[in-house]
Amino acid sequence: MMSTRFNGKRVIVTGGAQGIGAATARQFAVEGASVAIVDLNGSQAVKTAAEISNAPEVIAAGGSARGWSCDVTDEGAVHDTFTQIAGVHRGLEILVNNAGITRDNMLFKMSIADWQAVLDTNLTSAYLCSRAAQTHMVKAGYGKIVSLSSRSALGNAGQANYAAAKAGIQGLTSTLALELGRFNINVNAVAPGYIATSMTAATADRLGSTFEEHQHAAAARTPLKRVGQPEEVASVIAFLASEDASYVSGQTLYINGGAR
Ligand code: NDP
Repeated sequence: MMSTRFNGKRVIVTGGAQGIGAATARQFAVEGASVAIVDLNGSQAVKTAAEISNAPEVIAAGGSARGWSCDVTDEGAVHDTFTQIAGVHRGLEILVNNAGITRDNMLFKMSIADWQAVLDTNLTSAYLCSRAAQTHMVKAGYGKIVSLSSRSALGNAGQANYAAAKAGIQGLTSTLALELGRFNINVNAVAPGYIATSMTAATADRLGSTFEEHQHAAAARTPLKRVGQPEEVASVIAFLASEDASYVSGQTLYINGGAR
């Protein structure tokens, strides 16, 4: 078996059934990790995990993936699922807090339900999952946590809830880096710009554009003149979770094609 960056590492990727999370789960598995894909959509998580596990390059690297159904906004479900996963895998070294949703609207039309759902799914989930994961990481004296912020953390009209949650991720990240550093746990975040996934497809639909038109407009605003792909976020998450970034902690890395 070839030697890779994540041989024998145990990884949880939340919201990994599709999009950036699925690409991230695949990246870890291709580099030899055992990956738990935790998603609200349990059947899609199982399907994605099977596709990853059966890929020849994953088999060659000794990696694997398994799907788990869990609502990461539910404190009890997170505790039980993480305990079960760490039991099955006999440990947990890497957590990627990726699950997220949007419920866009201008402030005067934004309901408390949409505000709360976005805060719960994008921010509170990262607190719950990081808290559940650190138990295993502290015990092992080793861990990596990478969370999904967004370029929207800098402000984006129509996304007060999402921008607040994603800015919150940056504060959570720098604080957890301070608290967990002495246990040899690195905590970082990535802040993608426009990435072509179901999330951005749904935004296009809501605005009455085709996905192609929407991507074209986003590409025109971006110095690299194209939108990003899930794999281009996954590779940076893997870098931050690897020993290549062993002295990086408390940082948020923007992945946005050079946009200011
Ligand atoms: P997708 O919508 O494609 O994937 C998100 C996944 O999270 C889905 O599988 C979804 O399941 C799951 N999920 C949602 N709520 C929960 C929950 N409560 N518990 C468990 N899983 C849940 O999104 P992307 O891949 O585009 O986004 C991934 C992350 O990257 C998000 O945090 C997003 O905010 C962030 N991001 C994305 C950008 C983009 O341009 N795409 C830009 C910047 C940041 P289900 O389908 O069942 O809802």
